[in-house]
Amino acid sequence: MNNTKFTTDPQKMEEIVSLCKRRGFIFQSADLYGGLNGCWDYGPLGAELKRNLKDYWWRKMVQEREDIVGMDGSILNHQAVLTASGHVGGFSDPMVDCKICKKRYRADQIEPEDLICSEKKQGKKEERLCELTEEKDFNLMFKTKMGASADDNDPNAVAYLRPETAQSIFSQFKNVLDSSRQKIPFGIAQIGKAFRNEINPRNFTFRSREFEQMEIEYFCHPDDALALCDEWLETRLSFYEEIGIPRTQLHVLDVPDGERAHYSAKTYDIEYAFPFGIQELEGVAYRSNYDLTQHKTHSGKPIEYFDEQAGERYLPHVIEPSAGCDRTILALICEAYDQEELTNDKGKVETRTVLRFKPSMAPIKVGIFPLLKKNAEQVKIAKEIERELSAYMNVFYDEAGAVGRRYRRQDEVGTPYCLTIDFDTLGESGDELKNTVTLRHRDSMEQERVAIDELLPKLLKLIK
Ligand code: ATP
Repeated sequence: MNNTKFTTDPQKMEEIVSLCKRRGFIFQSADLYGGLNGCWDYGPLGAELKRNLKDYWWRKMVQEREDIVGMDGSILNHQAVLTASGHVGGFSDPMVDCKICKKRYRADQIEPEDLICSEKKQGKKEERLCELTEEKDFNLMFKTKMGASADDNDPNAVAYLRPETAQSIFSQFKNVLDSSRQKIPFGIAQIGKAFRNEINPRNFTFRSREFEQMEIEYFCHPDDALALCDEWLETRLSFYEEIGIPRTQLHVLDVPDGERAHYSAKTYDIEYAFPFGIQELEGVAYRSNYDLTQHKTHSGKPIEYFDEQAGERYLPHVIEPSAGCDRTILALICEAYDQEELTNDKGKVETRTVLRFKPSMAPIKVGIFPLLKKNAEQVKIAKEIERELSAYMNVFYDEAGAVGRRYRRQDEVGTPYCLTIDFDTLGESGDELKNTVTLRHRDSMEQERVAIDELLPKLLKLIK
């Protein structure tokens, strides 16, 4: 992707945020009470979309591979785990405050327009700029206390909401290895919530305080690590293509020396061209054996891998493809969002809003409409089709309003196929069309007649 050509599109972003709320994809958490900053609730369609993404990731990254197993660790993390990993001591961002209006900023992410001070000079109309304090480190972890009798000063009662899913994988490495009998190279994958007390949550769900990650720790021999890091980058780029984010919209940042973590000899950031800028979706990092070394040292337990064939005992190195689920959802919505101008039957130009999701990601796969809700026979057949298909896919029955409006409502939420049961289905135009329905394709808006008996196998193929 050519960076120099990229321009932001705030209006598109506004339209997307509004559509997400209007159609039930994403709501601000505690909307009723003014909102909980940095937290989001997924509505009925958002929950389906997220489930499709997570299921697809799990199938591709875990179930279809012999060399990766899954796990599902606790969200509350023992402080010893996060002390060993370095999070308790150093998981922080630089923070500055405005001395005048008290606004708080993440020091390394200030845009010039952010610096307009909310307090105007007395008696003067012109804006003034914030006056910033010295930087200080702000730890991003949410701390809590465990147990009803926990004393405020009892260090053993302290726990944290995990800031990443990775540390439970590292701290369970030996248990998973011993119980799953995997051999190096192999990976452990996890999908789950992570929490960071971000100084400035922003850009809709992009930077949230509660979010979900899809992470793999791929353990290997140190000699193979750099080649595997490149292999993983390719695997992950192909994954994004498969779910509907083309490579032309992705940008790979080979993180330069000095900007990588001290233990990482190679890190790639996979970035996406969001309407608000080119920003990180996923990191693919070679983390050496830093984490396992830390857990071995802090726990005092032997967690090495023994290679029987080579007679070698060592702490494996690791490649970490770590993706943000919410950021990928946002990228899917931004990529799918389209508005096109159409001329209707009466010659009037209309705007059609479409989410062009890949069928495998679409929250609803098929809309099912009887042409006339007052026609009992059409309704009966439509309901029968709904019953049959809903055992295999998420469908939506709709009998309200003109059929054209029903198509538009489904276009707007990305439903790839719609079925209409009409008078021809009942045999009113002769036997040839009897027991067939109209199958309408979202992107081309083309329609074809399909026999009811053939619907299930045909649709299963189309939505795969
Ligand atoms: P950033 O630099 O954007 O803060 P990061 O490099 O700290 O991200 P990682 O620690 O590598 O992020 O986390 C892996 C992935 O988790 C990121 O690529 C991103 O997709 C997701 N992620 C991290 N922080 C957030 C957040 N605050 N909100 C939503 N997703 C996040």
